[in-house]
Amino acid sequence: MFNEADEHQDIRDAVRQLCRQFPDTYFREVDTRKAYPEAFVNALIGAGWLAAMIPEAYGGTGLGLTAASVIMEEINRCGGNAGAVHGQMYNMGTLLRSGSPAQKDRYLPAIAAGKLRIQSMAVTEPTTGTDTTKIKTTAVRVGGKTGDHYVVNGQKVWISRVQHSDLMILLARTTPLAEVKKKSEGMSVFIVDLHQAIGHGLSVRPIPNLVNHETNELFFDNLEIPAENLIGEEGQGFRYILDGLNAERTLIAAECIGDGYWFIERARKYAGERVVFDRPIGQNQGVQFPIADAFIEIEAANLMRFDAARRFDARQPCGAQANMAKYLAAKASWEAANVCMQTYGGFGFANEYDIERKFRETRLYQVAPISTNMIFAYVAEHVLGLPRSF
Ligand SMILES: Cc1cc2nc3c(=O)[nH]c(=O)nc-3n(C[C@H](O)[C@H](O)[C@H](O)COP(=O)(O)OP(=O)(O)OC[C@H]3O[C@@H](n4cnc5c(N)ncnc54)[C@H](O)[C@@H]3O)c2cc1C
Repeated sequence: MFNEADEHQDIRDAVRQLCRQFPDTYFREVDTRKAYPEAFVNALIGAGWLAAMIPEAYGGTGLGLTAASVIMEEINRCGGNAGAVHGQMYNMGTLLRSGSPAQKDRYLPAIAAGKLRIQSMAVTEPTTGTDTTKIKTTAVRVGGKTGDHYVVNGQKVWISRVQHSDLMILLARTTPLAEVKKKSEGMSVFIVDLHQAIGHGLSVRPIPNLVNHETNELFFDNLEIPAENLIGEEGQGFRYILDGLNAERTLIAAECIGDGYWFIERARKYAGERVVFDRPIGQNQGVQFPIADAFIEIEAANLMRFDAARRFDARQPCGAQANMAKYLAAKASWEAANVCMQTYGGFGFANEYDIERKFRETRLYQVAPISTNMIFAYVAEHVLGLPRSF
C-alpha cells in the first residue's frame, strides 16, 4: 500500500538511503549524456544488493525473489532506472539452475562479490524477433562430441549492457531446426567471456534509442567458445532460458510498480501545489480522478506481482502469475506516466521535472523483455487452453 510500511521495510529504507546519493539530477545528467550510470551501479553492486538471489553458499545473500523485487521497485520508486542493472540480478539464474558444480564454483562467488558482472543475455535476433525457436545464430562443436570448443556465427540485436559486463549468456542453435523433433530442441546456452570474445570473433555496435539504455547489435564471426562454457546439456538451452523468465518478468513488474508510485507521487504533489483559476488544479475532479484511477491500477498490479514472487520463492508454478504481473504492472505504470504528464501540463515536457525521462523509460516494458501480445498469447493458450496460433 502507498507509503505504508510492510515486512520489507528494512530493505526499502536501506535501498532508499543508497538511492539518496543519486538524486534526480544524477539520472537526468546521465540521461542527457546518454551515459551509463556507472557510479550508481558500482554503489549497488558494492553494497551487495544485486546478489540477493545468489544463495549464501556462493557468497550471496539468498534473500529470494520477493526481496529482490523490492530492491528493484525501490530503485525506480526513488527516480532511478533499474534497467541499468537488473541483468546482474537475474542472468546468473541460468547458471545457478542449470550450470555444472564447477561452473557455479567458478563464477557465482565472483558475481556475488561484485568482481564479475553478468549483465547480458543474448537471445533476440534481427530476422526472427519474438519467434525465438527460429534463431539463426549457430554454435558448432569442432571435432565432434569430444571437441574442446564451439564456433559461433550469426547476429543478435537489442542485447543490453554488453559494454558494461564481463560475462554474457548466449542462446545459439547447435542442431539445425530441420533435424529436431520439436522446434524448441537443438538450442544451447553458453557463457561467453566478453573480454576474450570482443575483437576476436564478436563485434558490438551500439543502438541509439529512445531511452538511456545501453543496448547493441552483436555480430559473431567464427567466435570460438571453450566447450566447458556450455551450460547444462547440449540442445536443452531453450528450456533453461524459459526457466529464468519468470524471475525476470516478476522483477520487471516490480520496477514498473516503482515507476507507477513515482508518477503518482509526483502527480499528487503537483496537483496539490499548482494553482490555476485561483485554486489547486487537483481540486478539479477532472484532474484528481485520473490520478486516483491510475493509483488503483498500480495497487492491483502490485498484488499480482507479490503473488508471482511468493509462488516463485515457494517453488510453486508461477508462469501465469509472472506474465500477468508483468502485463498489469507495465500497463499501470504507463497509465500513471500519462496521467502524470497530463497533470504537469506543459511542464511535463521540460527535462528538469524528470517526467518525460521516466515516461520514456517506463514505456519500454510493454515491448521488452516480452511484448504485451505475447503475454496475451501465453494466457490464452497456456492458461485458458485456447488453440495455439503459432
Ligand atoms: C531497449 C531494449 C532492450 C532489450 N534488451 C534485450 C536483451 O538484453 N536481450 C535480448 O535477447 N533481447 C532484448 N530486447 C529484445 C526484446 O525482447 C524484443 O524487442 C521483444 O521481445 C520483441 O521482439 P521484436 O522487437 O523483434 O518484435 P517482433 O517479434 O518483430 O514483433 C513486433 C510486434 O508484433 C507483435 N507480434 C509478433 N508476432 C505476433 C503474433 N503472432 N501475434 C500477435 N502479435 C505479434 C509483437 O508483440 C510486437 O508488438 C530488448 C529490446 C529493447 C527495445
